[in-house]
Amino acid sequence: MYGYHGKVLHIDLKEKKHWVEQKPEEWYKKYIGGVSMATRLCWENIKPGCDPYSPDNPVCIANGIFAGTPVPVGGKYGLASKSPMTGFIGDSLSGSWFSVALKRAGWDAVVIHDTSDTWVNVFIDDERVEFRDATSLLGKGTFETEEAIREQLHDDQVRSATIGPSGENMVRFANVTNDGRQAGRTGHGAVWGSKKLKAVSVRGTHGVAVADPDTLMKLSFNITREAQGPHTSKYRILGTSTNVLNMNKLGLLPTRNYREGVFEGAETVSGEYLHEHHNVKTIACAQCPIACEQMSVVKSGPYEGAMTGIEYECLFANGPNLGISDLDYVIKLISVADHSGMDAMSMGITISWAMETYERKIFTNEDFKCKSHPEGFPLNFGDGASAVSLAEMIRDREGIGALLSEGTRIASRTIDKERGTETWKWAMQSKGLEPAGYDARGLKTFALGSSVGTRGPCHNRSAAYDVDIQGVVDRFKVDETRGEHAKDAEEYAAVYDTLPLCKFIRRCFTGKADRAGAWPTIVQLINATTGWELKYEDIDAIGSRAVTIKKAFNIREGWKRADDALPWRWMHDPMTKGPSAGYVTTEEELEYMKDLYYKAKGWTNDGLIPKENLIQLGMEDVAEQIGV
Ligand code: SF4
Repeated sequence: MYGYHGKVLHIDLKEKKHWVEQKPEEWYKKYIGGVSMATRLCWENIKPGCDPYSPDNPVCIANGIFAGTPVPVGGKYGLASKSPMTGFIGDSLSGSWFSVALKRAGWDAVVIHDTSDTWVNVFIDDERVEFRDATSLLGKGTFETEEAIREQLHDDQVRSATIGPSGENMVRFANVTNDGRQAGRTGHGAVWGSKKLKAVSVRGTHGVAVADPDTLMKLSFNITREAQGPHTSKYRILGTSTNVLNMNKLGLLPTRNYREGVFEGAETVSGEYLHEHHNVKTIACAQCPIACEQMSVVKSGPYEGAMTGIEYECLFANGPNLGISDLDYVIKLISVADHSGMDAMSMGITISWAMETYERKIFTNEDFKCKSHPEGFPLNFGDGASAVSLAEMIRDREGIGALLSEGTRIASRTIDKERGTETWKWAMQSKGLEPAGYDARGLKTFALGSSVGTRGPCHNRSAAYDVDIQGVVDRFKVDETRGEHAKDAEEYAAVYDTLPLCKFIRRCFTGKADRAGAWPTIVQLINATTGWELKYEDIDAIGSRAVTIKKAFNIREGWKRADDALPWRWMHDPMTKGPSAGYVTTEEELEYMKDLYYKAKGWTNDGLIPKENLIQLGMEDVAEQIGV
């Protein structure tokens, strides 16, 4: 088989053994790689209904079809498990050298079963698997851990995916980091922590055979050349942080726990300001000619030297959303999250929930007692120093940090039970996951896309805001087109997440990012890599199948129509300022749009999947279990 090795590596942490599973080519044609293949492996290997922290919840890593080839931005892998945040599928992507090393080691995917009795670093050394004692790595941050493993193995080519102290402490939104990139959302780090899995390291020394190297080189060269031009300048020069001012202008920039969509301090936390005052360099994932990661540093003051990569989602969550207009604090907050291995989005939004709870006098200074502040501290919006202290308490699960480390859903439910309050109304979450940095009150299609997302509300899995923002539809009104738009947006994204290719390349094929602009080149890339003869319409099927396997997983875990919901605030609490003021998505509007979406998908009105729909996608075994 070209492009693949035809092998999945299974590892048992309890028994310290491994075995190889051969998969037929037809299986690869259906699930391709990335989040789709990783979810399929969850489907095959997880015990339905299990606790996400139990030994029955495996870690599934699936490489990309283009990892280790010349295809630009194709060095990516998917990571999936049952999410401790949502109880549904938790799927994330990460890029860079870890995926290349895994491909060169000869594995298309890895499934890690059960739980180790002691902390372990699994070392995949081509065909060999070694279980290394990880005790000496405990307490080390994510970047530090990668470096320490390279030193221990005396090989600077070894690549590792690791957890930091937050994962060890099972912060529910802990993440997994490799090469400075994060598989950030849905709590993979906590799952790894529950298994005492500190790191997976890989040394790969094999080549990657492709079917038609000449064609692949030519296509890759053309895409690389385009990626140096205007189609990617937004990402290359300022990175995604440029969204701060754009979202502010539209009244969509989440501000002070999503109460408003305009922030008076937006200028000083903008991508432009970041670039001028804090940027030290831009870096790239493996195989990437774009390089969007803006490495930023605090140059003076108490947090001098704090440095990490900054992009829009982490920036909004820890800047405007906390009422903070000083980038020194924002960079410090994101660096606490990145070095300790926490999802900076969920962390920022959990802190903003706590800030509002403090402002409403449900929390008091006493709630924030810790070793460094025995009397506690105030937690007002805009107070960057207090936000940093709280982030460190969450990382360490110290004091109230232990509760906040569970995320907004569990934290609000716990406080409401204890204190008879209704803090859940400003807990910004749906399915247990904190949402993206686009306020859905002013984006009706995105409201629908966020509510039906299989991993929770997510800009990466559904850019349904595109049609709202581009004016294809009236972003403040509901109409009968929204079901089709939401379906299209998520299936389009799912193609990129399955290959996976970074979506920032999407205009570099022909200048147009839509299906007609991108699919013909993507077909050629796949065929030149594998020797298959896929056609244009097969690319649509890849996206459709990827969403369907994730939805099927959720249905098997007990998903119901009511789970496709939105945060209460987006449905009942309009903003008072800016161009999106006065709007919410009402319950009637949401239910109407869900009807449209399920119809567009060919599902039942309850959101279940008919057997024939699954059989058409070649998923007969799934049809047997959850088809109706
Ligand atoms: S554009 Fe950015 S996120 Fe995408 S592959 Fe390149 S460096 Fe990574």
